[in-house]
Amino acid sequence: MLEVINPATEEVIETMGSATVEDADEAVSRAKAAFPKWKSIEPADRVKMLRRLAEALDSERENLARLESRNTGKPISEALGEMGMVAETFHYYAGMPERVLGDTIPVSGGIDMTFREPLGVVALIVPWNFPLTIASWKMAPALAAGNTIVLKPAELTPLTAARFERIAKEAGIPEGVVNVVVGPGSSVGQRLAEHPDVAKVAFTGSTDVGRRVMEAASGTIKRVTLELGGKSANIVFADADLERAAASAPSGFLGNAGQDCCARSRILVQKTAMDDFMSLLETAVKNVRVGNPADSDTEMGPLISASHREKVASFVPDDAPVAFRGDAPGGSGFWFAPTVLAPVSNDDHAAREEIFGPVAAVIPFEDEADAVRLANDTIYGLSGSVWTRDGAKALRVARAVDTGVISINSNTSVRVATPFGGFKQSGVGRELGPHALDHYTEVKNVYFAL
Ligand code: NAD
Repeated sequence: MLEVINPATEEVIETMGSATVEDADEAVSRAKAAFPKWKSIEPADRVKMLRRLAEALDSERENLARLESRNTGKPISEALGEMGMVAETFHYYAGMPERVLGDTIPVSGGIDMTFREPLGVVALIVPWNFPLTIASWKMAPALAAGNTIVLKPAELTPLTAARFERIAKEAGIPEGVVNVVVGPGSSVGQRLAEHPDVAKVAFTGSTDVGRRVMEAASGTIKRVTLELGGKSANIVFADADLERAAASAPSGFLGNAGQDCCARSRILVQKTAMDDFMSLLETAVKNVRVGNPADSDTEMGPLISASHREKVASFVPDDAPVAFRGDAPGGSGFWFAPTVLAPVSNDDHAAREEIFGPVAAVIPFEDEADAVRLANDTIYGLSGSVWTRDGAKALRVARAVDTGVISINSNTSVRVATPFGGFKQSGVGRELGPHALDHYTEVKNVYFAL
């Protein structure tokens, strides 16, 4: 049995059965049996079904947000935003079945054309930090392209995935098209990644497990997309609007209590602006409201678990250069106060490893070349920001940083209509936008001799 905990109170909120490898096999069989019919439904009918599902998700937004907030500890305001994005993602891809287009290619002696075919059964393995949101980025394009799916949520946060399965059924998605298995990654996840009837694995999680998934998938040469860890840089030049940059920086490393693959947990600050920026940042961090996730004005909740809190704490040993901390409640709950380390060398542990908690390392730099060198001195390449009033410099730096997503004068990373994914060890492939459909279809080339 699986005990699902509320990280803000440490109370058990639900007990549910934990799936076995046999359950995973059954889910794959159901998805395999449903594939031929789902694939051949008229595209216009698939549009209608996915629209109904998107509308059901709109109606369920508040219920899903409350559930996600209780299960993850994320503030209700963030959970509402995320559940809005889940519905929006389904609305966006609901329009796609009629737009999975091919080409006609001029060749001699006949007509050549391409088709985009669905892959078959797709396994979707997701982490605990944005449970249903990340699942929706995979489910919506997979279904729109005509695949059937088996979703495995993280053991810590299975509740919204289980609810989603019911919502999909009630919205009229045919039996077997959407399957959810709640179970351990090391057995159920591993089995899905190895299963001979799974055509593709779409995985989001840590880089270490991503490597294992890639190996497991290699047995049958599965298609694999991976969204992995990050250690992104928030680069603040001295000529930036420092007040805006400092006011925004907390959202870059404290959003979701820092448990965000896009967290800008390295703040690179030009040396000449260091003192001014640090004093503005201290005010901004100390103003962040940390507390009960159910309160509408809470901005940061607890960490996901006791063991994760221990891991985060290991990055702040007694001799760490703590510049300042924000507040956190005491008592039950896996709380950790926002913490800023400064100055940090880019070679330090806290600047190299993904902390996945509310801890930022402030790293000083000299000039543009130094900033780019430091930003790129990491195995990761997921996200990032550049703050400057010089437009040409902003674009030069945005192009020079090896990262999948970068924002200028902003700390946001993700939009439904734009591609998201990593360079280097942050992943393989792209989610969201039209690009995601490429990863859920195979190109077929047909030559017709005249
Ligand atoms: P994790 O890698 O421990 O687990 C992710 C999922 O993989 C879970 O469902 C888990 O049960 C499953 N799993 C574990 N072992 C497996 C195996 N051997 N085979 C198949 N599946 C297995 O990650 P986590 O701790 O849940 O999440 C945090 C990590 O996720 C961080 O590294 C974070 O950066 C990353 N992440 C990346 C993105 C992105 O889009 N790049 C988004 C969110 C989180």
